[in-house]
Amino acid sequence: MIWNEKYETMSRENMQAHQLSCLKKLVDNVYNKVPFYKKRMDEMGVKPSDIQTLADIRKLPFTTKYDMRDTYPFGLLACGMDEILEVHASSGTTGKPVVVAYTQNDLDIWSEVVARTLTMGGIGKDDIIQNAYGYGLFTGGFGIHHGAKKVGATIVPISGGNTTRQVNLMKDFGATCLTCTPSYALYIAETAREMGVDPKKDLKLKCGYFGAEPWSLAMRKDIEEKLNIKAYDIFGLTEIIGPGVAAECEYQNMMHVQEDLFYPEIINPETGEPVPDGEKGELVLTTLTKTGTPILRYRTRDLTYIDRTPCKCGRTTARIHRLFGRTDDMLIIRGVNVFPSQIEEVLVKIEGVEPQYQIIVDRKDNLDIIEIKVEMNESLFSDQMKNLAATEKYIAGELHNMLNIHTKVTLVEPKSIPRGDGKTKRVFDKRVLQ
Ligand code: AMP
Ligand code: ZN
Repeated sequence: MIWNEKYETMSRENMQAHQLSCLKKLVDNVYNKVPFYKKRMDEMGVKPSDIQTLADIRKLPFTTKYDMRDTYPFGLLACGMDEILEVHASSGTTGKPVVVAYTQNDLDIWSEVVARTLTMGGIGKDDIIQNAYGYGLFTGGFGIHHGAKKVGATIVPISGGNTTRQVNLMKDFGATCLTCTPSYALYIAETAREMGVDPKKDLKLKCGYFGAEPWSLAMRKDIEEKLNIKAYDIFGLTEIIGPGVAAECEYQNMMHVQEDLFYPEIINPETGEPVPDGEKGELVLTTLTKTGTPILRYRTRDLTYIDRTPCKCGRTTARIHRLFGRTDDMLIIRGVNVFPSQIEEVLVKIEGVEPQYQIIVDRKDNLDIIEIKVEMNESLFSDQMKNLAATEKYIAGELHNMLNIHTKVTLVEPKSIPRGDGKTKRVFDKRVLQ
């Protein structure tokens, strides 16, 4: 089923006309109501009337995380505070949080995109959603909550943490859908196994929506097997709205962007110039219809490519490839570019290890060194006959074959890498201040 036939199956021509009409109104709105954008546009010599085609979007300024921090907390508001109903924030790693304020219109957009997402996985009125994304300033919990209400599903707003209780309630209430970060889904699966709960027999889960952090295809397979579900990728970011900006349909073949509401561009991160469809680059998003904190051309730093061919599911909206990583989490190890998700992809396929790892990067004698701590599973750990040094060497060899990087691999005991219920920090780069 498709939640919104009108927009999700619109012809390209009509979609472009819709996007252009929204873009014109948006630019007019921010020029007149947000001094930050007026100043930027004046500096660049652009007036709202210069936007006559979709390609004219390139005349507009980019917005960056720094801009959002500099205008903390409410400098990008395009309406009075009396119209704001909800505020969310993303802390990031340094500095002031990024704050986003939602009007009723914005909350409607948010619940609409999450409703479309849940419908893609066949979730509706008869379903019970165990929402284990954190509730609070983080957008995960509330985003799913708003959309779940819209489709009429039963929400269990359990938030993150207390994993034993998560498993018990999932079983007792008969949840059919789980929503949380992919790393937390694995932790829940592991806890269920330890509690003797068999997802095939004891749980009614059909699917889950996992996002908010990078995860590999191999990790998807692992979650699907361990929880006996279909695991869908859901993408979003606070600056734009939260989860639901893009998500996978039942074909799990790239994520549909809700492009009637969020206009996607892919640019070369170094030059800022557009790249052709199918070519990898940085995703840039413009909120076409938001009224609280509307954003022009947000530089997400997320790397992906775009495909505008229609999908087998009947939707015509553009799709983005699952994220390759972020421009700011790419590791350059002795000149070789590598993303943590590529390392994960290799590790998850190796027998005897769990998809629980840490990447530690350091520099010694002017050379980058990378150590990968990876957890053994119980059976490898208890197999005293096994030569662990040989396994470590084998893993390092695989990483070298696949990614051309030299690593020191250390196998660590089961459960020794800390688990969390939110975004998991996997990279510790000692070359830069954390
Ligand atoms: P936040 O606004 O704090 O929730 O962080 C948003 C960021 O999380 C995005 O810009 C992405 O880098 C990352 N993210 C969100 N969803 C996904 C996903 N499905 N796959 C990979 N990374 C994601
Ligand atoms: Zn599709």
